[in-house]
Amino acid sequence: MILLKVANLKKKYNTSFGHFSAAKEIVYAVEDISFSLRQGETLALAGESGCGKSTLARLILRLEEPTGGKIIFAGEDITNLSGKKLRHIRKNMQIVFQDSSSSLNQLQTVGASIEEPLNNFQIRTPKDRKQRVEELMEMVGIDRGYINKYPHQLSGGQRQRVSLARALAITPRLLVLDEPVSSLDVSIQAQILNLLENLKKEYNLTYLFISHDLAVISQISDRIAIMYLGSIIEIIRCEDLLAEAVHPYTTDLLASVPVPDPRQRKDRRKTLMGEPPNPLNPPAGCRFHPRCRLAWQVCRQEKPTLRLIENEHMVACHLYGNR
Ligand code: SF4
Ligand code: MG
Repeated sequence: MILLKVANLKKKYNTSFGHFSAAKEIVYAVEDISFSLRQGETLALAGESGCGKSTLARLILRLEEPTGGKIIFAGEDITNLSGKKLRHIRKNMQIVFQDSSSSLNQLQTVGASIEEPLNNFQIRTPKDRKQRVEELMEMVGIDRGYINKYPHQLSGGQRQRVSLARALAITPRLLVLDEPVSSLDVSIQAQILNLLENLKKEYNLTYLFISHDLAVISQISDRIAIMYLGSIIEIIRCEDLLAEAVHPYTTDLLASVPVPDPRQRKDRRKTLMGEPPNPLNPPAGCRFHPRCRLAWQVCRQEKPTLRLIENEHMVACHLYGNR
């Protein structure tokens, strides 16, 4: 069953420059994005910072208004919902951010922080809520002794567990995880990724997992959508990523992931050619063409569309089924 469907979603900003100039530029943060997410699936959104991953997530959660396109959640068009109806949908979609030290209220204890969404949505009686908080702490692996502690008394990993408990308190169906382990040490990352896997199985959750880190993404995702400058340029099953990804940007990204090489006792890696382009002035045609080693004439003129080239494998590149 499809839980979330996004069709031709767009977000553009008008940006004014300088004090004396009325000149406005239109910047597409999200250009024309379509994809579906199945119930129980983990879809990763990958790409360099600034490519529009977080904006896309905020549009889906209706924290920002799209400029165009549609968002269908559990069969319902939620693109223009407001008021009570939007509030009802919000119960089913929650987000966890990278930096739990700024997303958690520093003046709130762990217990109060986890209880807050239960109070906001008037879930259960006050007495039952206390019990639910303890259940949630257990679910995410935080000792009950921490219930009266404050965020600054916790480690980064513990704070991220509290953020998860908060997000899960109102039993959402979709959890958007925006760089959830990026600020954690590698060993703690593995613990949180394991916890996410277990929670997903146990509570039939669906994840949209945002990360710039392909090593992390490949540990947890079913499918991966690679973004570049506001567009998805390839969608592929995680298990096929290494052997079958074909978009020149994806393969460059893969080549830039460090591979431990025991003979050289140092990381072997290539770096991506050139700098990411300025989103204020994106190149015409394929947005990737100034950095692409395979670019030719048409790439400078026409933007390729995302097309299915094989079962569950979609690519936006003129080399694959676009001409
Ligand atoms: Fe490279 Fe052209 Fe494909 Fe863009 S469309 S990725 S420039 S080959
Ligand atoms: Mg981001």
